[in-house]
Amino acid sequence: MRSPIPDYLLEVLDSCGEDGGAVADYIPELAAADPDRFGICVATVDGTIYTAGDADVEFTIQSMSKPFTYAIALADRGIDALNERVGVEPSGEAFNEISVERGTGRPKNAMINAGALLTHSLVDGDDSAAQSERVRAGFSRFAGRDLVVDEQAFVSELASAHRNLGMAHLLKAAKTLDCDPVEIVRGYTRQCSVKVSCQDLAIMAATLANAGVHPLTHETLLSRPVVRQVLSVMMTCGMYDAAGDWMTDVGIPAKSGVSGGVIGALPGQVGIAVFSPRLDSHGSSVRGVEAFERLSRDMGMHLMDVAQEGRSALRGAYVTEGDDPMTVYEVQGDLRFAGAETIVRAIAEGEHETRRVALDLTRVYRLHDVGRRMLLESVRRLGEDGLEVVLVDPECALPEAADVGSERLTVVDSLADGTAST
Ligand code: GLU
Repeated sequence: MRSPIPDYLLEVLDSCGEDGGAVADYIPELAAADPDRFGICVATVDGTIYTAGDADVEFTIQSMSKPFTYAIALADRGIDALNERVGVEPSGEAFNEISVERGTGRPKNAMINAGALLTHSLVDGDDSAAQSERVRAGFSRFAGRDLVVDEQAFVSELASAHRNLGMAHLLKAAKTLDCDPVEIVRGYTRQCSVKVSCQDLAIMAATLANAGVHPLTHETLLSRPVVRQVLSVMMTCGMYDAAGDWMTDVGIPAKSGVSGGVIGALPGQVGIAVFSPRLDSHGSSVRGVEAFERLSRDMGMHLMDVAQEGRSALRGAYVTEGDDPMTVYEVQGDLRFAGAETIVRAIAEGEHETRRVALDLTRVYRLHDVGRRMLLESVRRLGEDGLEVVLVDPECALPEAADVGSERLTVVDSLADGTAST
């Protein structure tokens, strides 16, 4: 069978016919963009890439670089250190708002230029050139290929960076910026001038959607807390003064760029990138925004539109046959609070007419910390109630079980191993 997904993506491109808006023209390299280009790429967290239209056309990353530099700086310095220097509040203003908080000197967030300049200055590196190279190399690792700077766009952009220079000087005057303002604008402008395609961006976004693990190389590039911080700031601040509309209509953590790209990272599912150079009054791609609205609506991608995820955690509960039967609870999936609560409730309400109770974790995909603690406590309490507990845990999802101190616990690799009397 031919996958219907590329056909669907083509249909999305066809349906977003609006040709309003205008290509950015403040530098010749952006003004020269073909306004009719339209590409889309969806990269799943398990590394499948779907494209349609101009998905391999290259353009400068511009403001879509901001979440990735923020991620690198967070990884380099730690979340607390970043929070001291850059806020996490939506500004409700345009990308180039002059944002320097009275008293602290902090910019509102890392998605507007003031915050992005400061963020760039917090990336590790002995000097500005080293920081800039660290950013380019970091982007390349997210994309899974070596990305290069569009030198011509960089030179033009730098020659017109008066407002960014003004902001960097203000940040220096407020003592939030430690280094040379001119050098930081230079580094930030190089960061914005890295060339990418929709496919690169979708893979980069999929790394964020995949909790920091690259979907193709499987390398862990970012820690979970860093990814959570980046996605949260993208969700609340990524679309500048259109953040509220974006949250309600689309509901995907996102970032747009003046070159006409929009990226989105839907946690646990996909990274998405759309490219179409005509921009709306907020500086975001007209057809890019439209395509995201359609994807979110058609594919149920809104972050706030979540089904009862706990319901499927208990795959089954039954009593085995034989002389020494066992009550078995089959657990499955990705266990957060709601899922673990379903399991704990089933066990708490169980009659347990057998002397042994088995917790079968064979189909558990991931145990969040809360799920782990709730299952451990259940194992302990079952032991206290005088029951023998058989933990079927072939992938060692609950290694701490051995430490709960219950002599009544046996850990086995398969239910068949556990069925033999213990
Ligand atoms: N390089 C642009 C600037 O900082 C990026 C703006 C954008 O993409 O929104 O002015």
